[in-house]
Amino acid sequence: MAENYFATGGCLCGKVQYTISAAPRVMSQCHCDDCRKSTGTGHASNAFFKQEDVHIKGETSHYASLAESGATITRYFCPICGSLLFGTLSGIKNVIAVAVGSVDDSSWFKPSVIVYSKRKPHWDFMDESIPAFAEMPPPVVKK
Ligand SMILES: [Zn+2]
Ligand SMILES: [Zn+2]
Repeated sequence: MAENYFATGGCLCGKVQYTISAAPRVMSQCHCDDCRKSTGTGHASNAFFKQEDVHIKGETSHYASLAESGATITRYFCPICGSLLFGTLSGIKNVIAVAVGSVDDSSWFKPSVIVYSKRKPHWDFMDESIPAFAEMPPPVVKK
């Protein structure tokens, strides 16, 4: 079954599961305050897919917050186990960010940009060959 998908994933308890049918358009890591709080660690690792390529099974809960960039970011998580799974940004339609830690096999993940590096904790070590921006550079996510 898995061979037909680009990737599969889900939450810790297995209540929410998803399949992804095509490769991501953008991959990034973010150290902003909201990403650190919502992941409980030094950064969020996100892969951005076309909404139609991500097929979700199971109910998620969500929480919307206003990002420093002015966009509203809605984060989706499992209502049972709390695993962070997805994110969407206001103003960017038809794109969904998948929390890469929830992917079963994320060996394809190769971030091309690190954002909000000004908020990076000193204990969070990143690949220094990846371009890092103190804040949000002009469009990371292509429409
Ligand atoms: Zn769960
Ligand atoms: Zn962030």
